[in-house]
Amino acid sequence: MSLIQHLINGELVNDSGRSADVYNPSTGQVIHQVPLASRETIQQAIDAAKAAFPAWRNTPAAKRAQVMFRFKQLLEQNEARISQLISEEHGKTLEDAAGELKRGIENVEYACSAPEILKGEYSRNVGPNIDAWSDFQPLGVVAGITPFNFPAMVPLWMYPLAIVCGNCFILKPSERDPSSTLLIAQLLQEAGLPKGVLSVVHGDKGAVDALIEAPEVKALSFVGSTPIAEYIYSEATKRGKRVQALGGAKNHAVLMPDADLDNAVSALMGAAYGSCGERCMAISVAVCVGDQVADALIAKLVPQVKALKIGAGTSCGLDMGPLVTGQARDKVSGYIEDGVSSGAKLVVDGRGLSVAGHEEGFFLGGSLFDRVTPEMRIYKEEIFGPVLCVVRVNSLEAAMQLINDHEYGNGTCIFTRDGEAARLFCDEIEVGMVGVNVPLPVPVAYHSFGGWKRSLFGDLHAYGPDGVRFYTRRKAITQRWPQRASHEASQFAFPSL
Ligand code: NAD
Repeated sequence: MSLIQHLINGELVNDSGRSADVYNPSTGQVIHQVPLASRETIQQAIDAAKAAFPAWRNTPAAKRAQVMFRFKQLLEQNEARISQLISEEHGKTLEDAAGELKRGIENVEYACSAPEILKGEYSRNVGPNIDAWSDFQPLGVVAGITPFNFPAMVPLWMYPLAIVCGNCFILKPSERDPSSTLLIAQLLQEAGLPKGVLSVVHGDKGAVDALIEAPEVKALSFVGSTPIAEYIYSEATKRGKRVQALGGAKNHAVLMPDADLDNAVSALMGAAYGSCGERCMAISVAVCVGDQVADALIAKLVPQVKALKIGAGTSCGLDMGPLVTGQARDKVSGYIEDGVSSGAKLVVDGRGLSVAGHEEGFFLGGSLFDRVTPEMRIYKEEIFGPVLCVVRVNSLEAAMQLINDHEYGNGTCIFTRDGEAARLFCDEIEVGMVGVNVPLPVPVAYHSFGGWKRSLFGDLHAYGPDGVRFYTRRKAITQRWPQRASHEASQFAFPSL
């Protein structure tokens, strides 16, 4: 068993304080210890970032981008190694791990366009001999706190863009699967990033509180569950920090009577059960418009859910691996029990699954509920496991009302052949990311990612154009160069044309 290290000021460093277990969820065994940073360790990372900032912010944007070009190459060259680490500690399949890395690399590609995205705006002759421009300047030291479910992609949503905008970044990844996140940061160092511009400190609430309280940290990006997102937003904004805190989700897919059902079923299988349902954009509710659609959907889903290929994530050709921890598996099992006792119809029960050779792993099969109603806990709360709930309604309007009444508003989609219905859905649904016949509408890197309602605290979404706005502040400069021969008299009225 090895001890994972922090990466501070370009060096791997040990921590003599508290630590936590990191599991291989496929075997149920502890494979590493991860240090839980003390305030002193966090301060070391902050001091390194502060010291690196003046030179880094004055490095030309094109030079900063060159580091990102080399980083992208290194990420691609190391895809197999990174995917293996993700799979070993998270449990997702190797193919799924490679997929999240590819979506993360998209964000590095976007960061490569720094000279273009930081060009600012210029207006000549806004007044006599006066020119004006707006500049995007970095904030200084900024930090990110990330969840376990995308140990590669979600950190890559944050620091490539923050860094290429001229900031120095401190990343506090999930303590449950930190190894791939650390390796990726080391690759950025290898790509030529100056020491101190990026540090990775492992930890739990103590480390996060130290980042919230540090006056040197000007902005915090958070991705994780809603209670923690809300806590971080309120504590950090109270201290004058800029915060974007992305929280939990309950994503609905609406199936209209005219939907191409076979395609919708394939899409739903991947979106509900891929990565064991541990995705913030996972579809966890299928809203069927009419009993006919619901009956046909259940008939098609049942054999496919029962046939899911489940095993150790690091084996090839699987649909699903284990859940991340024994605690996560037990929590999901508890929700299944709760659904049964509240009167939902459990059509497929994934509990009690044993995978030969991996009897101690944190496995659950896929579960499917029919006749779920809005007051049930399995409908209201985020289960974050391989459980799909079918809710029956009579009309598109009723489906939309249901979704709009839910406390979360991260992602949603509609399956239909009817353009009018799709257009109404896109216009009126109170959700931040919407798919039309697309089950996981995760925006590409040159758009931005974010939910509505209690799925996001803050104004700006993650990455893309909103990310640039989040990691920079505007400065508007108005400049006059009077002609030598002229003399301007004092003007006591407010300046105008
Ligand atoms: P989590 O909230 O438990 O942890 C997220 C981060 O917060 C981790 O780094 C963790 O160490 C830290 N943390 C945990 N408890 C804390 C506390 N009391 N105080 C301060 N920091 C604390 O989330 P998770 O279980 O790692 O991830 C799953 C959750 O993340 C789900 O709810 C999922 O929907 C959400 N998620 C949301 C998005 C999105 O974009 N909206 C993306 C991915 C995951």
